[in-house]
Amino acid sequence: MLQCALPMKTAQISEIFQSIQGEGKYVGVRQVFVRFFGCHMHCSWCDTPESIGDTTRNYQEMTLAEVFAKIKELSVDCHSISLTGGEPLLQADFIANLLPLLKKAKLSVYLETSGVLHKALNQVIKGVDIVAMDIKMPSSTGERSFWKEHEQFLNIARKNKKDIFVKAVVGSKTSKADIVRTAKIVHASDPNMLFILQPNTFDLSRGVVQKCEDFQRLCFKILPNTRVMPQMHKFMKIR
Ligand code: SF4
Repeated sequence: MLQCALPMKTAQISEIFQSIQGEGKYVGVRQVFVRFFGCHMHCSWCDTPESIGDTTRNYQEMTLAEVFAKIKELSVDCHSISLTGGEPLLQADFIANLLPLLKKAKLSVYLETSGVLHKALNQVIKGVDIVAMDIKMPSSTGERSFWKEHEQFLNIARKNKKDIFVKAVVGSKTSKADIVRTAKIVHASDPNMLFILQPNTFDLSRGVVQKCEDFQRLCFKILPNTRVMPQMHKFMKIR
C-alpha cells in the first residue's frame, strides 16, 4: 500500500496558491504551493486534515495542463514550486509528467515529503531540486516506525546529489531514543546535513521548546548543523 503511486492522467489537488514558506532551510522565500490531496500517514499533529481525507473538504481533479497553467500564473516572483500535501509522492506518476514542464519553464522544484515512499521518489528525483524531508518518529506521530524506509529515501536523494534537509517534529511524547536514532540516520547520509527540530505547534504550551533545546544539545554530538525552528507561517497566520 505504501508504494502505490496512483497511475493518473489527472491529479487530486487540494489547492494551489502562492505564499511564504514557513518551515525549514528556505523559510521566508515565496513559493507556489501545489497541495496534493491524500496521505498514507496520520501524524498526530497534522495541520492539513483536508489533505488526508479526514474532513468533508474536497479536492479538485485537475489535468496536467490545468495544474501547469495555474503554477505559471502564480509563479511570478517565486523562488520555487513546492510540491506538498498530504503526501505528493502518492501521485508520483502525475508529478513525473509535470516535472519536464516545470524544468522547461525554468522553475525550481521543492519536494516536501514524509520521506517514506522511496520507490516513488526514484520516479521523480531527477526533476527535483530541493528535498525537504521529514523523519517520522513513532513517539511523535503515534504510528509505527519507518526507519528503513527513511534510510532508503535519503540514499536515493543523496545519490542524486540533491539539496536536502531533514526535519523532525518534536512533541511532548517524543522520546530521546527516537531523536538519537533519527540523528544517526541523518549522520550516516551526511554528517553536515541541516537537521531541523520543529516543535509541534499544538504542543507549545507543554514544554516542547525546552525539549527541543535539550535535544539540540544532544544532537550536536552527532549532527553539528542541528537547529530549532518553529512553523513560522503559524505565527504569521498565513497559509
Ligand atoms: S505526513 Fe504530513 S500530511 Fe500526512 S499525516 Fe503527516 S503531517 Fe499530515
